[in-house]
Amino acid sequence: MRERWSISLRLTLWFGSFFFLGWLLFGVTMWLNLSTTLRAERDQTLSRRIDRFQEVLGNAQHEVQSERLGDFLEFSRATGNGLNEVFRPDGNREFSNTTPAAKKFPWPSLIGMQAEKYSLVVSGGQSYRVLLRPVNVGNRSLVLACAASESPNRLVLGRFLVGLGASVPVFLLLGSAGGYLVGRRALSPVDEITRRVQSISIGNLSERLPALNSRDELQRLTETSNAMLERLESSVLRIRQFTADASHELRAPLSIIRTSSEVALREPQLGGESRKTLLGIVGEVERATALLNDMLTLARADAAHGDLLWEPVDLAGLAEEVCETATPRAQQCELSFAISLPHDQPAMIMGDLFALRRLLWTLIDNAMKYTPHGGAVGLSLTAEAGSVVVEVTDSGIGIAAKDLPYIFDRFYRADPSRGDVEGTGLGLAIAKWIAQMHKAELTVSSEPGHGSTFCLTFPLAGK
Ligand code: ADP
Repeated sequence: MRERWSISLRLTLWFGSFFFLGWLLFGVTMWLNLSTTLRAERDQTLSRRIDRFQEVLGNAQHEVQSERLGDFLEFSRATGNGLNEVFRPDGNREFSNTTPAAKKFPWPSLIGMQAEKYSLVVSGGQSYRVLLRPVNVGNRSLVLACAASESPNRLVLGRFLVGLGASVPVFLLLGSAGGYLVGRRALSPVDEITRRVQSISIGNLSERLPALNSRDELQRLTETSNAMLERLESSVLRIRQFTADASHELRAPLSIIRTSSEVALREPQLGGESRKTLLGIVGEVERATALLNDMLTLARADAAHGDLLWEPVDLAGLAEEVCETATPRAQQCELSFAISLPHDQPAMIMGDLFALRRLLWTLIDNAMKYTPHGGAVGLSLTAEAGSVVVEVTDSGIGIAAKDLPYIFDRFYRADPSRGDVEGTGLGLAIAKWIAQMHKAELTVSSEPGHGSTFCLTFPLAGK
């Protein structure tokens, strides 16, 4: 499956982008607003200045030309940095302006001018707003011109832009952190649900997800999952019960077939062919009974009432007893059998004697089954600090690495060639269950063609 971005990462990105875009929109709107306000403000100032200019000239209309020039120069020096001018309609200046800035200033053309007009002019690398207003002073038509630098406004707008740009990382960080925190907070129950669901398997189907009271999708999810677990558990229980019942019920007819066959075999007049057939039936019934017994054991184990009886058990004594039972078979199979037990020193653990005997027997039986004639089988028991370790080794056919993870599964038999060796594929599954019930660890290491070692580590009683 293609790897997708996690929801928290996506929320972080979404939040970050939304905050950023929102902030950008706000910033642009504010900038436009500020720019329009500043421009309107400056135009108003220009308009007020030209009003005042007109007033000054109007008051001076009956005076002599030199006095009017004086009024004009005084006004021009006092306001607008000298950028005020009076033009005649032909474009020539009414007064000669002595201010250096005004002399070089590129005033816009007056041609075709009917009404007051604003325009933009660039002079000396700076832009200026210019207002031209046609007026009548006395009986003369003149055009008043005033200019104001754009620089102060540009400075304010530039600072605003710098501030806006500097806050980009802050807003991005705030947005992303907000998204991340919201995501983490909203999804933290999902992590818990995932952990719990991962830990639930066929062995602990009675477990449930923690109940949520959030009245949201997550609460619905946990409730639906718990309802599903409920259904699964009851289905599995029914299947287990069926397996246990079927195994139990089948044992009686099998036992009758076996008894009847054995009785028939005692008949002296029984022909050779019939005897062979009956012996075959007895053998098959024995195998089927062993299989049913194993299935019944596992079904009971699943139902969590494996009928274990807990008592102090001397594992060293038990191992010796099992090895004694196995020795004749080892001799029969021409296998050397090495046993190493601590002398006169019990290895006490708490456990079920019958189940532990079965566990040790399964490992030794397998070692003998899967080791060809002339090979070696061994059992060693050592009491270490706080634990007892039992190792069953053989020099047999070994187990391929690909099979190792599955040999404790039910009905798993490693290779078709094992068809030569009788077995149900349930022995190690039962052994694993018994080990688990005793809090023991059962591990295996093996090399195909060289043999296997099964290692059991039990905690010592009282540890
Ligand atoms: P089975 O009845 O087939 O012996 P088990 O559950 O006892 O079933 O073992 C499962 C499989 O593990 C066996 O079929 C066999 O392939 C493999 N196995 C178990 N013990 C050994 C061993 N000592 N050496 C090699 N293979 C083994």
